[in-house]
Amino acid sequence: MKAKRIPERFCLGCQESRPKKDLLRIVRSPEGEFSVDVTGKKAGRGAYICRSMACLERARKSRALERSFKSPIAPVVYDMLANELKGLEG
Ligand SMILES: [Zn+2]
Repeated sequence: MKAKRIPERFCLGCQESRPKKDLLRIVRSPEGEFSVDVTGKKAGRGAYICRSMACLERARKSRALERSFKSPIAPVVYDMLANELKGLEG
């Protein structure tokens, strides 16, 4: 019996590997615009964080997003992510 491997990605906040479905995908489009990718199918370079405010804060403080995308991240992008997480956490 071959177990189907669940795709995993690293969270930029806690640096732990988690199933993709438990993570929030952040995408930078070829035009350089950041957005939250809820479907996981948007084109562009992606990064992942847990669906948790704590991990977003850690990623913000450690500048992990900047490092991952090799570009500055505007505060509005973090606000957008925070809003998205608030909605998911309910
Ligand atoms: Zn995390």
